[in-house]
Amino acid sequence: MRSVLIVHYHEISLKRGNRPLFLRHLVRNLERATRDLGPVRVRQLPGRILVELEGHDRPDAVAARVGRVCGVASAALAYRVPSSVDAMKAASAMVIEGRRFASFRISARRAFKTYPLTSVELNRELGAFIVQRTGARVDLREPELAIHVEVLPAETFVYADRVSGPGGLPVGTAGTVAALLSGGIDSPVASWRMMKRGCRVVFVHFHSVPYLPATSQAKARSLVERLTEWQYRSQLFLVPLGEIQREVVLSVPPPARVVVYRRMMVRIAEMLARQTGALALVTGESLGQVASQTLTNIARIDEVAEAPILRPLIGMDKIEITEEAQRLGTFEISIEPDADCCTLFVPRHPATRVGSEEIRAAESRLDIPRLVAMGCEGTRVETFEFPGGA
Ligand code: ATP
Ligand code: MG
Repeated sequence: MRSVLIVHYHEISLKRGNRPLFLRHLVRNLERATRDLGPVRVRQLPGRILVELEGHDRPDAVAARVGRVCGVASAALAYRVPSSVDAMKAASAMVIEGRRFASFRISARRAFKTYPLTSVELNRELGAFIVQRTGARVDLREPELAIHVEVLPAETFVYADRVSGPGGLPVGTAGTVAALLSGGIDSPVASWRMMKRGCRVVFVHFHSVPYLPATSQAKARSLVERLTEWQYRSQLFLVPLGEIQREVVLSVPPPARVVVYRRMMVRIAEMLARQTGALALVTGESLGQVASQTLTNIARIDEVAEAPILRPLIGMDKIEITEEAQRLGTFEISIEPDADCCTLFVPRHPATRVGSEEIRAAESRLDIPRLVAMGCEGTRVETFEFPGGA
């Protein structure tokens, strides 16, 4: 029985003084990610984490969940045996049972260097054993099957199939950010990128109900539900923007409107961020993608923010962003037709360069504090949990 899941991390091992803190978060997130699948025991060993699955009904389901936890570089269901060469051979025999392969490689690693055999010697000894049993040849560069052997003082782990995790840092280690989540393709990817850097993300969605149907809210909910799979608990703030947009339309000339909407979003999101302890805002902007995302207009948007606005997709192409959205499973949700607030009262030709003076003049006719307060007061909060029902 493969009774243990062996979890490797990469970037965390580069942290020196803070490593215990990062590992505590990782352990807790591994527990949270799998809590509905039955009891597991998560144990820290030097350089790796073990998820004990003795007697567990669904080891593969646990492995799949663990393979998606931020901070995990890879995870593999392994056989656990005593650290004797005979036991390692027996475990290797179990790993190859029922598999057909013409070439293979043994990758032995010793987590402590006092083991009587070196890793090269172990590779040779176990390799010879597999050759003898199967007739397969050793191929160090492109083997059909790679068998990993990790030798620790008390026990050895032997496995073949390793799933790659997202890497990065455990959610919760980098503080909280507030992501402006539209129903589009980009902002869910931007949010996920920040989770992967260890942030907890609260979501802020602007809608134009009752001027537009509530479909954008339904999309935002579906997106948050999906993204919660990486951070286990999320809050979604639903902010009414329609009335604010109506007032903007009355006094701001068409070309500058989109930038004014964005500035209003940033002001309101910043107020909400403060309430939730978020230290930065996140958007899905990518340089030059649309009129509001030129360098000039980004500068206009930044002017109204006190907190940093993080734009993890700024240098990415639409194709790259789309591929990532597909991997995350947000793409299918994002492409559903909806009535985003950005389609309400939006001019056909928004300006690509709105000047500082121009925007100040346009906004001088608005009662900004009142509009911000109106947005905040109309905001509703929803909470999401993953796994559900636990
Ligand atoms: P996305 O695919 O994320 O919608 P986009 O390419 O459609 O992005 P814009 O519509 O210009 O670009 O939006 C730029 C950014 O502004 C979005 O990535 C998002 O962070 C924020 N944003 C836009 N509309 C909304 C909204 N209705 N609610 C919250 N944030 C929004
Ligand atoms: Mg959009």
